[in-house]
Amino acid sequence: MQTNNRDFLSYPKVIENYALLEEIGVFDLISEMDQRVREYQSLLFGAAEIFNRMSIEEIMEATVSQISNQYLPSFIAFLWRPLQNREDVTLKGYQNYKLINLPYKIDTITPFVPFFQVNREPILYATLREELKDDDETRDIFASLEKLTPELVVPIIGPSGLYGLILVGHKVTADVYTDGELLFISQLMSFVSQAIQNHIHYEHSVRDVKTGLFNHGFLVPRLTEEISRVKRTGQVSSLMVIDVDKFKVFNDNYGHLAGDRVLEFIARAINKSVRTDDVPSRFGGEEFTILLPNTTAESAFLVAERLRDNIATMSVPWEAALPQVTISLGIASFTRDTNAGTDEIIHRADEALYRSKETGRNRTTIWHGDLAPGPDKKGQA
Ligand code: GH3
Ligand code: MG
Ligand code: MG
Repeated sequence: MQTNNRDFLSYPKVIENYALLEEIGVFDLISEMDQRVREYQSLLFGAAEIFNRMSIEEIMEATVSQISNQYLPSFIAFLWRPLQNREDVTLKGYQNYKLINLPYKIDTITPFVPFFQVNREPILYATLREELKDDDETRDIFASLEKLTPELVVPIIGPSGLYGLILVGHKVTADVYTDGELLFISQLMSFVSQAIQNHIHYEHSVRDVKTGLFNHGFLVPRLTEEISRVKRTGQVSSLMVIDVDKFKVFNDNYGHLAGDRVLEFIARAINKSVRTDDVPSRFGGEEFTILLPNTTAESAFLVAERLRDNIATMSVPWEAALPQVTISLGIASFTRDTNAGTDEIIHRADEALYRSKETGRNRTTIWHGDLAPGPDKKGQA
């Protein structure tokens, strides 16, 4: 049945009893139910939009769109605590669906945690202000928040507690938020939390916990995909493998924990050296890889040498002074004409790495056919 089919309203008996029906609230009820149906439709649509997003930024943007479409608030701001780092807080403001610069920082959402553990629903800012006790910590945050003049505070809550807050400004129409609207936002937020949790689970499944780089399980299918992509596009891409030099000796001398710290710093250096399309991963142990789409062996070599240089000169703070570590690298490129699958490309990059080790370490080698002729190539070399 269609909700907007109102033919019965023109029936003679309805017209005859119009005043009565109106008096007992039938028409109000009908329009209220229409409104509910519209809200549920928006909620379903909003949930689908939010679940389709992969990154936290995209989830935030979709949420901003959904709330803005409904209420035209003067602004929306996200206060977000990234899970890897329990302290730093990200603050992002949106006006008219667009990111805006907020001229101040908020350092923590921790003082809100106990309150939202008990109260998990969106709340009017004024009420929150009254409910939270006034101490040095909250005073600072409220002083910053006040500059924004939020009207609503919406918690984003998941199994590991408060992830963040959404601050919503007054409606541009100046109407206040009704209980029904608060309920709508609350329902929408349960989808937002779920989307964020899905995102976190996904990230855990593709990333190495220690370094935050992608893991081996992520790299391999991505490399396979890249090999097919260059076959279609005719581009050239490269795979770089990286192994820390004499790392066993390092561990033996300075301990495994110091070694782990060095690996973290190497991962940071790797992250800094890559472009957005590159795929830096931890292959396992003290071995890393970078997949560089649309990059020739020569360009990859420049990236490799810069990275090698950065690592050879980086300092890693530790309780004892640590010696400089170095890395060795191998590069294998592939084009449409390369007759090699995923394992063979990895194997070639490994062979090049092995050559770097053999010839003195702390260097980069590009794979080429003569590097390590297989049994069937021996005759041609
Ligand atoms: P080289 O590569 O230069 O030939 O010498 P190496 O001593 O680094 O030899 P290899 O690559 O075979 O050894 C890897 C060593 O790296 C073994 C282990 O002590 C260390 N290692 C592997 N994974 C980790 C890790 O997660 N943390 C720490 N601290 N050490 C690791
Ligand atoms: Mg190794
Ligand atoms: Mg090594």
